[in-house]
Amino acid sequence: MRIQFSIIFAVLITALSLCTIIALRSHKSIGKFVAALDFSLIPPIIGNLLIISSTSRNIATLGCYIYFIGMDMVMFALILFTAEYCKGTGNGQKIPGFVHWLLFLDTLQILLNPFTGFTFTIETIKVEHADYFRFVPLMGQSIHRLIDYGLFISVMLLFFITAMKTPKIYREKYSIILMTMFIAGLWQTFYIFSRTPIDRSMIGFGLFGLLIFYFSLIYRPLRLLDRLLSNIASEMTDALFVFDPTQKCIWANDQGCALTEIRPGDVDSASAKLFELFGGPGKPENISAERMIHNGKEIRYYILEEHTVTVEHKKLAGTYLRVRDITEAKMRIKREMYEATHDHLTGLYTREHLYKRIAETLANNPTVEYYVVFVDVKDFKVVNDIFGVEFGDYALKCIAQWIHNDMSDRCCYGRLGGDTFGVLVPKEEFDPENISETLSRLLISYKNAEYKLLIHLGVYAIDSDDSDISVMFDRAHLALATIKDEYNTYIAYYDNEIRQQILWGQNISAQLYDAIRERQVCPYLQPIADISGNIVGAEALARWNHPEHGFLSPASFIPIFEKNGMIVEIDRYMWRSACEILQKWQKIGCDKFISVNISPKDFYFTDVVAEIKGLASEYGVDPSKLRIEITETVMMNDADSRMQMLEDFRRNGFVVEMDDFGSGYSSLNMLKDMPVDVLKIDMKFLGRTKEKSKADTIVKNIINLSKELGILALTEGVENHIQFQSLSGMGCSLFQGFYFAKPMPVAEFETFAGIDKISE
Ligand code: C2E
Ligand code: MG
Ligand code: MG
Repeated sequence: MRIQFSIIFAVLITALSLCTIIALRSHKSIGKFVAALDFSLIPPIIGNLLIISSTSRNIATLGCYIYFIGMDMVMFALILFTAEYCKGTGNGQKIPGFVHWLLFLDTLQILLNPFTGFTFTIETIKVEHADYFRFVPLMGQSIHRLIDYGLFISVMLLFFITAMKTPKIYREKYSIILMTMFIAGLWQTFYIFSRTPIDRSMIGFGLFGLLIFYFSLIYRPLRLLDRLLSNIASEMTDALFVFDPTQKCIWANDQGCALTEIRPGDVDSASAKLFELFGGPGKPENISAERMIHNGKEIRYYILEEHTVTVEHKKLAGTYLRVRDITEAKMRIKREMYEATHDHLTGLYTREHLYKRIAETLANNPTVEYYVVFVDVKDFKVVNDIFGVEFGDYALKCIAQWIHNDMSDRCCYGRLGGDTFGVLVPKEEFDPENISETLSRLLISYKNAEYKLLIHLGVYAIDSDDSDISVMFDRAHLALATIKDEYNTYIAYYDNEIRQQILWGQNISAQLYDAIRERQVCPYLQPIADISGNIVGAEALARWNHPEHGFLSPASFIPIFEKNGMIVEIDRYMWRSACEILQKWQKIGCDKFISVNISPKDFYFTDVVAEIKGLASEYGVDPSKLRIEITETVMMNDADSRMQMLEDFRRNGFVVEMDDFGSGYSSLNMLKDMPVDVLKIDMKFLGRTKEKSKADTIVKNIINLSKELGILALTEGVENHIQFQSLSGMGCSLFQGFYFAKPMPVAEFETFAGIDKISE
């Protein structure tokens, strides 16, 4: 018996030593605690080895000391190990300080035993005819047991609580160690009561050390992993189906069951259901396929992914199919696409998308002849101003609806911006009579308000050479300018004449700088008379004496330069010329004024006030002799800051005149706020009115109104004596028109107005 147990103990010591070394080398944080515990288990076994193997009383006594003190070491290491092992579960992190003291004092009382005889003595007993040493427990031994058992039970309790608190799948990790501790403890107790000389529970201790080593450092909780993986699979938002190598479904998660409408236990029918839904998952491995299902109520989109699972030697273990519902994402993308390509208000294509669609249509139908149509609402600003934005929006929706209803699938249409729309229509589908008929009665009724919309279409026939869609629409737009009778003509075509006009525009634009430098462009003066017919001033009007095209009136170049912004070059030149003339006149004591025109575009390209002020001071001109003619359109944008500018002119002594009054629409409304000194009433617009008496009434009232506002009235376009007389009678103070004289060169004007006489 002695030899057998000696061998067993020696084996255990060797095994624990090995475990200690391996645990020390482990990278796991628990490694050093396992090493400490396994190492601490060696002394009690060595102690017992000495007790059973020795025939010397002294050696047996030494064995007892090693055994008892070793047990305290085991407790100490066990407590440290427990604190680490149960870390993170909220248990065992803090070791109470008295524990160390208890173990220290216990060790001390054991060490003092040779002097105190308080703990134990040694006796000899005979077992199976052999002498063995056995310790006889005294008072100190009871204290020792009390401390070690107390701590041991506390540790077990801690493991138990941790095992209870921890999620079920982790319980195994604690309960196995708890179980081993329990067995080792029970074995030890058995030894204490059996009073045999050999402590067989040391085998339990040794095995406990080995198990701790195994479970802490080597064992991978496969069941735990299994359960974790199956939980992940069950809780996945995607539907998951697992098939065996014969393609029979062996498992499906809840989402999979819901998708195929099968009961969780009835996975056998999943394959058939999947086939019904998607036509079978039989596809090459690891590729994604998008499927669309119409389930009677709605359309849903899915991505199917089939993966194969292989085991050793690439043997097929099965497949799994992952079905991801991408309906929401798909819808979101569709919605975003729609929003990016469709106008919010009308639901038609945006300009960019329309251009894209037109390009595609043209490319796909090279043999079809198309028109590009530019749809423009006349005076839409008036609609908004008078009826409000809500009405305006409704009107735009009606137009969009009208376009939508009238166009076939072969057409493309969209909103180009603001009140303009664009359409691509095959020539054979374009029916001008029908469209004109519809446009002639386009009445918008909304909340008790009614307005007859005036819509014009500019049409451009696409040429085989054309490629730039915006150019096509520009040309269709240009055609609109040719509509003369805007109330009866609704459609205008881009033709050769317009093409010539464009070429003309490009031509003279290229020549303008040279023309100004070479003085081909020069000021003409048109006299302005007072009520007695005396010439009091003149309006400076630009003329171009073109070397190739002869004498050009402003109508042939001013609108072009107004459009491309080059008007500012002419105006600067005209302002300077007016200052030169005024300087000359001032020198000879002539006090006549000159009015200069200011285009609305000038404000975009230059600081008009600063520039004119600068010129006046450069030429030493009296500002009151330089009159500034602006039109109401100047006020269309940024009215507040433009008002400030006019105020600025007046503060500096310039006279501000509002030109062409009556040709716009908001004149009366604006007049009360406009800081102007003179109102130039346009007689030409009255020429349109068939009834002369009505025209007279309008002019009379405008003159009266200007008087009330403290503004001087000037009528332009006075062509005969009758007009002059009647306007004088109405209270008009200044007159301009062919009746007095047409615009003329400066020298001619000076003779006409008698200025040259002053100098003589
Ligand atoms: P506006 O400023 O209203 O100038 C008056 C126009 O009416 C002048 O035409 C003048 O010749 C014309 N007119 C004067 N009396 C009569 C009349 O009794 N009967 C008729 N039928 N017409 C008369 P014009 O010189 O052809 O200028 C046309 C427009 O071109 C001007 O209208 C003005 O808006 C613009 N313009 C002319 N020169 C300049 C310029 O230097 N700068 C700018 N920005 N615009 C200019
Ligand atoms: Mg003018
Ligand atoms: Mg005018």
